Amino acid sequence: MKRALFLDRDGVINEDRRYVHRIEDFHFIDGIFDLCRAAMDAGMAIIVVTNQAGIGRGLFTERQFHVLTDWMKVQFADRGVTIDQVYYCPHHPLYGTGHYKLDCLCRKPNPGMILRARDEHGICLRNSVLIGDKEWDIMAAKAAGIGATVLISDHVPDPKAKPVFQAANLREAYDFFISSGLFTRIG
Ligand SMILES: [Mg+2]
Repeated sequence: MKRALFLDRDGVINEDRRYVHRIEDFHFIDGIFDLCRAAMDAGMAIIVVTNQAGIGRGLFTERQFHVLTDWMKVQFADRGVTIDQVYYCPHHPLYGTGHYKLDCLCRKPNPGMILRARDEHGICLRNSVLIGDKEWDIMAAKAAGIGATVLISDHVPDPKAKPVFQAANLREAYDFFISSGLFTRIG
């Protein structure tokens, strides 16, 4: 069964500048392309799972999100990385407007986006990895049954959101993947 590298977006792929929705505000974080290429070399799919409540809050539209996502995928492709799919949650249980006001199963810390990826791409979650920069990323990964979790953060997480590995940045995470054998091709 296929393995995947699950990536949160804001704070992992690009600098988190709060509700980023324009190309000019999207700045890739150092090390993301090397990390993804290593995952691809290990035969892993690359899947983005991102809360985008800015849509539900009316700060930007789904169309704007898709324009930015398409651009982001081209930037990855230009550097030899295929993003297999981007899953996003536009809802917010309190601040969503109209049909976006929803206590959904897709908004992390709920595992809905990850479970959908598992079903649609035939992913073995136990052998997969998630990288996030917030506790809810790790909680979603654990709820879904992802085997390895990495938190990019310099503060101590709540015990229920304790990752397998905590790193200060993507370079540290990369070194962890190589030394732990997680980026070694299986079979
Ligand atoms: Mg984030």
